[in-house]
Amino acid sequence: MQIRLSWQNLETGEWRTPVLTPPIALGRVFERMPSTVNGERVSRLVLNGERVSRFHGLITWENGTLMLTDTGSRNGILVNGIPQTRCVLQDGDLLQIAHYNITLSLVTNSFNTLPQNQSQISFSPPTKLPDTDLSSSTVSSANRENFPPQSFVNSLQISVQQLQTLGLPTDEIDYLTIGAGLGSFIWVDLLRISGIKSNQIIALGIDNKPYTHYQQLCLNSQIPPQERLRSNSDSCPDNIWGWPSYALREAYTEARQGQFLTALKLLWQVFAEPTFAETYTPRSGDVFNSIDREAHRIQWSQMYRYGRVKSIRKMTDGRYAIAYSRSTENRRDHGFILARYVQIATGYPAIQFLPDLQAYREQTKDFKTVVNAYENHDYIYEKLEQSGGTVIIRGRGIVASRILQRLYEARQKNSQIQILHLMRSPKAQGNQFEKAKRTVENHFEFQPFNWPKSCWGGDLRQQLEAANPQARLKLLEQWGGTTTAPRKDWQNIVNQGLRQGWYRITFGTVERVEPTPQGRTLTTIREHGLNANLQLEADFIIDATGLDAKVNTNPFLNDLVTHYNLPLNTLGRLSVANDFELVEMRNSNSSGEGFGGRMYAVGAITLGGPYAAVDSFLGLQYAALVSVENLASLSTPSLRKLTGWHSLWQWFKWVNNQPPN
Ligand SMILES: Cc1cc2nc3c(=O)[nH]c(=O)nc-3n(C[C@H](O)[C@H](O)[C@H](O)COP(=O)(O)OP(=O)(O)OC[C@H]3O[C@@H](n4cnc5c(N)ncnc54)[C@H](O)[C@@H]3O)c2cc1C
Repeated sequence: MQIRLSWQNLETGEWRTPVLTPPIALGRVFERMPSTVNGERVSRLVLNGERVSRFHGLITWENGTLMLTDTGSRNGILVNGIPQTRCVLQDGDLLQIAHYNITLSLVTNSFNTLPQNQSQISFSPPTKLPDTDLSSSTVSSANRENFPPQSFVNSLQISVQQLQTLGLPTDEIDYLTIGAGLGSFIWVDLLRISGIKSNQIIALGIDNKPYTHYQQLCLNSQIPPQERLRSNSDSCPDNIWGWPSYALREAYTEARQGQFLTALKLLWQVFAEPTFAETYTPRSGDVFNSIDREAHRIQWSQMYRYGRVKSIRKMTDGRYAIAYSRSTENRRDHGFILARYVQIATGYPAIQFLPDLQAYREQTKDFKTVVNAYENHDYIYEKLEQSGGTVIIRGRGIVASRILQRLYEARQKNSQIQILHLMRSPKAQGNQFEKAKRTVENHFEFQPFNWPKSCWGGDLRQQLEAANPQARLKLLEQWGGTTTAPRKDWQNIVNQGLRQGWYRITFGTVERVEPTPQGRTLTTIREHGLNANLQLEADFIIDATGLDAKVNTNPFLNDLVTHYNLPLNTLGRLSVANDFELVEMRNSNSSGEGFGGRMYAVGAITLGGPYAAVDSFLGLQYAALVSVENLASLSTPSLRKLTGWHSLWQWFKWVNNQPPN
């Protein structure tokens, strides 16, 4: 059985709630805690502060009893207020170690022990597209390339000499980011602005443009360059200051083309949103163009390196060794990069499928009639435009809205298109948090962004950081959930469709999905509130329910978590501190003294922690700001905190499109 340790660091106010498998070592220096006890791998929990001993205590299962042992610490351990050197632990016990008050709870069912969800499709390594033939389990188990070598895989800390004996190309760098997508780009951008030279950074990933993966997902889910995204005007991945915002830039471009009315409309929109005008959102094409400009300015191409990261190991000199592969079908090409400061930004590893639809696909091997909205399914619209037909949509978030809009566009070319929207249950009322209540229309729940705006930088951000673990989960549930943006065009389409009868909403729980002899799909549902089955026939089913970022769907993250026994948060993602550090991956040289390596994680792989909007442009910028600030406080090489005149000077450089240094 696993246990959850929850505490608030009284110095920083920060909450942590890792779920761990005993034996669990508690202490200040990772390397001073044992890696195994009685042959079992130890979860090593790093607690900061001089009053915490290097190896302070140990929690173990002994004949079915949970035991705590003080391993000779200087300042001792209190259990429920009483000093203990060895005692039995129970659910709800309070452990006091220096300034840490740690509550222990037994976990009967955690994400670490749950069987892997089968309803996922991983992104294929060579094509980077969702691969229907590839189940996540086959991805994780297969090491077709026989890389990294076993001696590397098995080590907890590896030395430079051991790496040299492997005879593979090895490079050294100060700062390294893994993923080379938007999260990486934003971190690198901030590092460059904060004084780091391009030859001190490597961005390791599969696509040379930071937005390739994101753009592909946008295109698949029917957001072409001229369509608008779901983010704020000042969420600018190319500009850490957020000014000039996208609305201002768009208004300027319109005005230069003589479109003064459009320009004024855009300005009015950002001034009056969301009460008197619809919330402004930028066009995806404008966002990509702005990133291209900034990538050129910060010399992204010089820092980018092609490679898929296989695994990471700590090094005895305090750095990290990153094993990566550049192999193609015909050529084996592997190497290592040694870095001291590492950021992990690997985004979504898989798309999530509803289990009944996944079952249909697995049984029938038909990947064309039942699709996920994040897969390429343009042929469906082409086919519908030619011959008409019926489509079932599943899910009622922002992607479902966009799919609906795309089907409406197809319907302008062929009026023989019918849309069935299958929802689990009616939605009469919107979620309420304090005085704020979301509006609902036709069972769609509205919120301009996927989180209330003040989750990014306002009151709600602070509230979540300060919340205890139970309250944090509740808050995330209340603020998030499935919502779509209130846009007049979408609302009009739904109303028009309902009125004219070509769009219908049905409520029910799916019992099964089967093929018909005519090559269509037959969905059997139990109707909501009725004890009767209903059958829905359709030519296509589009699942718009989402993407998945649980760490066990990404082989590299899975390796990291299992090898170092890293805690996961209650949503099964990486457990990070308020500054996005993976504290348990902190590294120091073998003497245990001085500054060693630091590792951070950002994006969807950290959802469920101290920050709600982790998977958004502004959220990635926030994560970059706090992690770089943390590095600046450690006086890492060439890094300057971005404040005052230095910030203003850098902003002028951005305006003039000059390299940051
Ligand atoms: C359709 C869609 C629309 C969105 N719209 C908005 C919006 O309007 N506004 C907003 O704020 N947010 C939006 N988001 C959310 C978020 O901003 C994006 O998902 C963003 O791309 C997240 O950045 P990331 O770096 O975490 O992931 P990505 O940009 O996807 O980058 C991750 C990269 O890591 C690579 N990678 C994975 N594993 C490895 C490995 N082992 N080795 C090397 N590389 C690896 C992947 O190939 C990928 O290129 C949207 C998301 C989606 C899916």
